[in-house]
Amino acid sequence: MTIYYEEDVNPKIIQGKKIAIIGYGSQGHAHALNLMDSGCDVRVGLREGSKSAEKAREAGLKVVDMDTAAEEADLIMILTPDETQPKVYEEHIKDHLKAGDTLAFAHGFNIHYGYIKAPEDVNVIMCAPKGPGHIVRRQFTEGSGVPDLACVAQDATGDAWDIAMSYCWGVGGARSGIIKATFAEETEEDLFGEQAVLCGGLVELVKAGFETLVDAGYPPELAYFECYHEMKMIVDLMYESGIHFMNYSISNTA
Ligand code: NAD
Ligand code: MG
Repeated sequence: MTIYYEEDVNPKIIQGKKIAIIGYGSQGHAHALNLMDSGCDVRVGLREGSKSAEKAREAGLKVVDMDTAAEEADLIMILTPDETQPKVYEEHIKDHLKAGDTLAFAHGFNIHYGYIKAPEDVNVIMCAPKGPGHIVRRQFTEGSGVPDLACVAQDATGDAWDIAMSYCWGVGGARSGIIKATFAEETEEDLFGEQAVLCGGLVELVKAGFETLVDAGYPPELAYFECYHEMKMIVDLMYESGIHFMNYSISNTA
């Protein structure tokens, strides 16, 4: 597997585009602010009366409605919740796409499962940071970055990969590595990871462990510390130094 870093990417590509970030939530604020700090021309497209508008303006971003953002931009990154994206695309973006524009996503769901079908003369790319938006922003401001998956579903201009990689550079991904993947790989692995391991699996494991101890007569406070509170510390050790070091760091009788 090839991993790309800063020296492999041309920042001028993304710095030369007019970028629309649609939505200013977890990923939206991180992409918009990181790209702005990377010297890119960013406008945020929000719904009428959006509560995020003030926050984005205070942070120094230009805020317009979604149609204006899509019309002005030649790269449109859709960062509203996945279940809202088909309607947002139909009502506010589709009619503003011009030949050679780039439609971008941070998760492949709507393209992979066919809920959004882009015109053939438009690039369809993905920059999927492998982490929550608030960490994507925090690590960027600290000088590092969350790794990104870069994917291309449709290459209309012949340089869609270069655009995707350059976008990833703009959000800080090239600092820790950009991995090329397909929309199918990102979508299916991301859903599996979240449901079976990271969110669903982890929560069910913590709850089942807690309930097993409490049902066996142990005090809930102790069960909480064993099965919930300590989880973060063990995960931190795995993240910092690997499973081997976590095993080394705990007692021999564990
Ligand atoms: P979010 O829920 O945090 O943010 C949604 C934003 O869109 C908000 O600004 C909200 O006001 C706006 N919005 C909500 N409904 C809307 C509608 N109907 N019309 C217009 N705007 C609307 O979303 P998110 O978690 O940042 O997810 C955005 C994308 O990023 C998704 O494709 C998701 O799969 C992907 N992603 C998220 C994370 C993450 O850490 N949350 C990580 C990787 C990829
Ligand atoms: Mg996801």
